[in-house]
Amino acid sequence: MAIFLFLCLASVVGCAQQTESDSSTSITATNIPDQAKPTQQEPTATPQPSQTPTYILSVEDIIATLPTQTAVPTENKSDPFAVTFPTPLPTDDLAWRPPLYEIPWAPGPHDHFYFYRPIAVNTVNWPLPNYRYGVTFFGPDIVHSGIDIAAPRGTPVLAAGAGRVVWAGTGLYFGIYNPNDPYGLSVVIEHDFGYEGSQLYTVYGHMDRIDVALGDELDTHDPIGIVGDTGFTTGPHLHFEIRVGLNNFFQTRNPELWIAPPQGWGILAGRILNERNGPIEKLEVTVNSLDSRRTWRNYTYTMLGIKSDPYYQENFVIGDLPAGEYQVYFTYEDQNYVQVIEINPGVVSFFQFQPNAGFTFTPPGDAHTFTAP
Ligand SMILES: [Zn+2]
Repeated sequence: MAIFLFLCLASVVGCAQQTESDSSTSITATNIPDQAKPTQQEPTATPQPSQTPTYILSVEDIIATLPTQTAVPTENKSDPFAVTFPTPLPTDDLAWRPPLYEIPWAPGPHDHFYFYRPIAVNTVNWPLPNYRYGVTFFGPDIVHSGIDIAAPRGTPVLAAGAGRVVWAGTGLYFGIYNPNDPYGLSVVIEHDFGYEGSQLYTVYGHMDRIDVALGDELDTHDPIGIVGDTGFTTGPHLHFEIRVGLNNFFQTRNPELWIAPPQGWGILAGRILNERNGPIEKLEVTVNSLDSRRTWRNYTYTMLGIKSDPYYQENFVIGDLPAGEYQVYFTYEDQNYVQVIEINPGVVSFFQFQPNAGFTFTPPGDAHTFTAP
């Protein structure tokens, strides 16, 4: 089976969003229309991730900055699954973030937010909202093995954690020098820390320039190069991967479960299964904030060459959600499903769905703990 990659995009984003919404306005991470911007000024003294933040925005502060939109599904009281969906709103990611939690951020035994973002907080340092981990975009067999950060060309790329350079150059996918390698100029760091006995690696792709060499010892935030568009990409951005256990293309995990979230914000992880307990692939899932009326949209993983977290066994993640109540909805086999879920600050909020069982909230890792002897 030919398994291809991944990566890319930036200039394609506008196109992708046009196809996902009926909005005539193209919205990208760097092109948020004025009416979609929070009314609050962006923090003027944006702290670097290594600094102890001097302030924290409360959930109320965050919510107060969000514009009001009006489209939410309306429930038919006679049938809990019969939901009339509104006209879809554009997926409009927020154009700012509070300071990040300090790494290693692990409020619970199964949390492992061990990394900072590889781009400083003074520019875009969050994943492209419509080309997240596990998503196909360029073809049915081309699954995204990481996240893309649409920082401008030349933006310094920073080590997400301390470690040693184990790859620096062109040829990461093929394993040897190859000018046509899809990762372009890339760096891999083997970190000084692991997780549950497994070595951790981070991958930085498409750089225009590399400033480190094989064997270099790095501290968190050390610059390793600059954002570019080398390799298989349609425009400048950073492709960022987490690999667990082995420095291998088939050992990736969802970076949104490994990078520290903004303070007061959380992560939604879902395990969306079919009648036979298998993951439903490529399912469009919409997440709508009941506080701000803001909408996020993502697809369930295509399970081809990528891995879920052993504890959550998720196939759907949206990170960087301001804490609050959200309505999660999707259509599966002509049936509409909806569930209100609380996103708590700094942690993963988990749901599982099966057509016969509906929504449940115990991660499979916990369920296994309680099997009878
Ligand atoms: Zn990518």
